[in-house]
Amino acid sequence: MGKAILITGASRGIGAATARLAAARGYAVCVNFRENRAAADGIVAGIVTAGGRAIAVQADVSREADILAMFARVDAELGRLAALVNNTGVNDLQSRLESITAARLDRILATNVKGPFLCAREAVKRMSLRHGGEGGGIVNVSSAAARLGSPGEYVDYAASKGALETMTIGLAKEVAEEGIRVNAVRPGHIYTDIHATGGEPGRVDRVKALVPMKRGGQPEEVAAAILWLLSPEASYVTGTILDVTGGR
Ligand code: NAP
Repeated sequence: MGKAILITGASRGIGAATARLAAARGYAVCVNFRENRAAADGIVAGIVTAGGRAIAVQADVSREADILAMFARVDAELGRLAALVNNTGVNDLQSRLESITAARLDRILATNVKGPFLCAREAVKRMSLRHGGEGGGIVNVSSAAARLGSPGEYVDYAASKGALETMTIGLAKEVAEEGIRVNAVRPGHIYTDIHATGGEPGRVDRVKALVPMKRGGQPEEVAAAILWLLSPEASYVTGTILDVTGGR
């Protein structure tokens, strides 16, 4: 059935661009979404029209049962899992730390940290030579926020990405002899809906003067970095965190 890729949060933004590029590179794609089925179905339809294979799978990555059911569908409908992109990441309204609630922290850490850990666990079980698999690649989508800290906006989100980067480094070493490479990309300011979720739809244009290249990035520019890290061209690259930030 060919090689499958599971991309979390692929109904829009960076995940959707990654799904389209992965399909063009020959992967059968699992387009995961949480609530916007129409958008996910639209990404799948575009891939199928272009001659590729894809399925849309609803799963909230903060829920273990949803993750297990999603991987089971990939096994049954797409075949051998060759790649995982832990792309889903959520923020919340811009806020100082002293206004952050426990409920907000629970949601951000469950989605941005626990979810990628559990997805990586399921991927390693399927890919690792140690478990009879054929190897594979994992790319975690971090953020320049892990370096910058996002003061006054979302230190919680930034810290969740710091955790994801540490997982990238540790897991890469843990499975390096088992045919699995684990890397991360660290996008800067990219034109997607996530900024509206943070309460400022025009954020990229406000901050782009801080970027040495003086512009925001496009989701396709992040997708290209992700697909390179998964490709044989990156065969000696693991545990690396690749900035896609226009120099910021
Ligand atoms: P986005 O436009 O807000 O899209 C988020 C995607 O995640 C949607 O497909 C959404 O599905 C899905 N999603 C949300 N909660 C989910 C959950 N609990 N379970 C499964 N899927 C869920 O985001 P984006 O800007 O493309 O961001 C993608 C990644 O890049 C994130 O990890 C983000 O932190 C990172 N990043 C983005 C930027 C940027 O400037 N855009 C910068 C640095 C890092 P529904 O549509 O169904 O809700």
